[in-house]
Amino acid sequence: MKNKLKAVLLYLWQLPQHLLALLVIHATDARRIKHSHRDGIATIFKARRLNSSWSAVSLGDYVLVSHQYRFTDIDYAHEHGHSVQSRRLGWLYLAVIGLPSLAGNLYDRMAHRRWNYARRVTWYYSLPWEAWADRLGGVVRT
Ligand SMILES: [Zn+2]
Repeated sequence: MKNKLKAVLLYLWQLPQHLLALLVIHATDARRIKHSHRDGIATIFKARRLNSSWSAVSLGDYVLVSHQYRFTDIDYAHEHGHSVQSRRLGWLYLAVIGLPSLAGNLYDRMAHRRWNYARRVTWYYSLPWEAWADRLGGVVRT
């Protein structure tokens, strides 16, 4: 009973990102996929109706992956870091992590077109909110 109450409160604590996730899952006809990871929090959903270069987005207990995207263990660990951020920040998550992350992503697509992939990855994951997710997920990028 105590654990169930804790789970409900934790779900409500992250309600804005969970509602957004459910909306995106519905809109993109996403399906749950299996992914084995030792300390994962989130359930992974693969969006079936979405054609874009968008890779993965973490919204609380849900991670949504674009269907063309090959979701690696490093990606999983990074998204796990975002799930931990969501549990810590609750209702602040979308403002503190979600918006800057979206802005960083859009900026990268516009401003770094001529950069090679490695340089773009280095830039993107050095942004403070992304570096924090890497640290929480135990990701080491070389
Ligand atoms: Zn990220």
